[in-house]
Amino acid sequence: MSERSATPEGGASPILRVQGLSKHFPLRRGLWGAGGGVVRAVDGVDLEVAAGETLGLVGESGCGKTTLGRMVLRLIEPSAGRIHFEGRDITSLAPSALRPLRRRMQIVFQDPQAALHPRMTVESAVGEPIRVHGLSDSEADLEARVGRLLERVGLRRDQRTRYPHELSGGQRQRVVIARALAVEPRFIVADEPVSALDVSIQAQIVNLLRDLQDELGLAYLFVAHDLSVVRWMSRRVAVMYLGKIVEQAPSDALYERPKHPYTRALLSAIPHVEPARRRVRLALTGDVPSPLAPPEGCRFHPRCPDSKPGLCDREVPALRTTEEGHSVACHLAD
Ligand code: SF4
Repeated sequence: MSERSATPEGGASPILRVQGLSKHFPLRRGLWGAGGGVVRAVDGVDLEVAAGETLGLVGESGCGKTTLGRMVLRLIEPSAGRIHFEGRDITSLAPSALRPLRRRMQIVFQDPQAALHPRMTVESAVGEPIRVHGLSDSEADLEARVGRLLERVGLRRDQRTRYPHELSGGQRQRVVIARALAVEPRFIVADEPVSALDVSIQAQIVNLLRDLQDELGLAYLFVAHDLSVVRWMSRRVAVMYLGKIVEQAPSDALYERPKHPYTRALLSAIPHVEPARRRVRLALTGDVPSPLAPPEGCRFHPRCPDSKPGLCDREVPALRTTEEGHSVACHLAD
C-alpha cells in the first residue's frame, strides 16, 4: 500500500486541493487558570475535488465536516495547511485579492430561513451579489438575470416580489441556490443543504443540484450526515471522524465494500427496503470522544470492535491507498 491523499478519479485536474488542513480552536482559561486547551476540530486533512464532480463528505455531527467546508472557502481561517483553488494557493491571500475569487466559490447553507434576510425580497436577495460583483450594467439587465435565475432553480418570475416568510422551506432553499448561482460559481460547498427540509422536498432539491451540475459543470463539496443522500449526489465520498478523513473512495466502492470499521457502522444503520440489501446493524458503542482530548493512536479505537491493543491505541493509522481511488486510515485494512 502507498501513502497518498485521496484524489479524483481519472487524473482530472482538481478545482480544489487542500493539504494538511487543520483548525484548532484554543479555549480560554477561566479564573484560577482552569480550562484552556485546544479543540482539534479539523486535523491534517488532505482532499481534492475535480472540476464538475461532487465529493460527498459524511460523518456524525461534531466530526468537523462543517468547519472543513467553511475553511476551504476561507470563511474560517485555517490553523495550518494549504488551500489551492483553480491551481492558485489562496491560503494567505489578502481579502482584497480573495474577493474576485469569491465569485467562483460559493456556499449553500443548511437553513435557508437563516440564510435569507427577512426584509429582502427574492429579487433583492438574488440580485444583491450581482450588484456587489458588478456583473450587471443596467437595471433591465439585472432584472432579466434574476428572472432567468429564478426559472433555472424552478421558481416563477412573479415570485420575485415575495419575502422569505411567504415561501415554503423548499422555495427558500431554491432562492438560496439562485443567489449562489448569481455570481456564476464553479465550485459550491453545499453544507447539509436538505437536512432542514421536509423529506418530501429533499429529493427535489437534491435533483435540482444534480441538474445544475450537469448543466453548468459545477463542482460540489456536498456535506451531509445522511448517507443515502450523499450516495445519490456524489461520485466520490470521504468519511470524517473526529477531525480526520478515515476513508475515501468512489461511491460504489465505499457503499459496497467499506473498509473502515467506522464506515461499516455508519452504513449498517441505513434502512433498506430490499431484504437482500439489509446489513447487520453494527452498533457504535460509547460517545464520540471530545475533540479537546482525542484518543491516542487511532481516534476511533475506543469505539472500534476490531481494535488491537498495543497497536490501535498507540499508533496513528495513515490514510493509505488500498486499491485504485480507495484510501483508508486503519491498521487492519487489507
Ligand atoms: Fe479499528 Fe484499529 Fe482500524 Fe482504528 S486502526 S479503525 S481501532 S482496527
